[in-house]
Amino acid sequence: MPHTSAATVAVLGSANMDLVAYVPVAPARGETVTGRDFRTGPGGKGTNQAIAAALAGGRVTMIGAVGDDDFGPRLRAALTERGVDTTGLRTVPGPSGTAHIVVDDEGGNSIVVVPGANAAVTDLAPGDAARIAAAGTLLLQLELPPAAVLAGARAARAHGVRTVLTPAPVVPLPDALLDCVDLLVPNEHEAAALTGHRDPHRAGRALLERVPEVVITLGASGSIHFARGAEPVTVPAPRVRAVDTTAAGDTFVGALAVARAEGRPMPAALAWATAAAGLSVRRAGASSAMPTRAEIDAAAG
Ligand code: ATP
Repeated sequence: MPHTSAATVAVLGSANMDLVAYVPVAPARGETVTGRDFRTGPGGKGTNQAIAAALAGGRVTMIGAVGDDDFGPRLRAALTERGVDTTGLRTVPGPSGTAHIVVDDEGGNSIVVVPGANAAVTDLAPGDAARIAAAGTLLLQLELPPAAVLAGARAARAHGVRTVLTPAPVVPLPDALLDCVDLLVPNEHEAAALTGHRDPHRAGRALLERVPEVVITLGASGSIHFARGAEPVTVPAPRVRAVDTTAAGDTFVGALAVARAEGRPMPAALAWATAAAGLSVRRAGASSAMPTRAEIDAAAG
């Protein structure tokens, strides 16, 4: 895959195999139902953001772990096929992370995530700090053990690497972590859970007391950018026929990181990331729905 951007991005995060069963109605406890379709695909927020950033043109390295089961090589291949460097993706004994997803005919879903190999990433491994130091930006989420996320953020801070945190799944965030975060990108539900404010403007203002810059994503309503000393800026999303919004947020963050790492100003970077996420919701799937750099450029106009 050609890299057409100067952006270098490290991702410290999860790798899961998504196992998706499509059923008319999800089973109740003790019940067995017959599904109509089944698909597997790479997932986990770390993998999704790594693939999104690579497709957006970034030079991306993934740090994390897969298991020594059949899914491990498949997850690694899904990353390398999109140009992601996986020398920092360890193989550990036991199963890879899996997400067991049941999607019903109304589009509702229920999900069981088994962390598997992701749980083995309790700290940085030899070489990981150098991988982070070599990048311009580090992308973090909360699907790895907290100690590893904190170690990654500290390594980034020590080497002057910009850190972007997606606070999902949402948990209370320690100051030690947020002190190392440059940009926080929660969705509106995560922003509300973190601050107790359902109004995103109030939530954004509260989060700015803990990190210098925040983008709250609002699904089809776009996003709001907050920075200290500046008025909030709302970025509308394109009106599109949404087929599947899975990983829209990860597409947004991956593209935003690449655009910012290229030195684009925040308004232009947000517009580009919004175009990328808008493209991803028009297609079914997670990483399989993510747009290439050329597609984003065409959509962003
Ligand atoms: P996910 O958990 O599915 O990855 P999320 O909840 O983290 O998503 P959202 O706020 O739903 O994140 O979406 C992220 C961005 O994707 C939005 O800010 C917007 O730019 C874009 N987006 C999401 N849904 C739509 C939609 N229906 N139409 C257009 N753009 C959308």
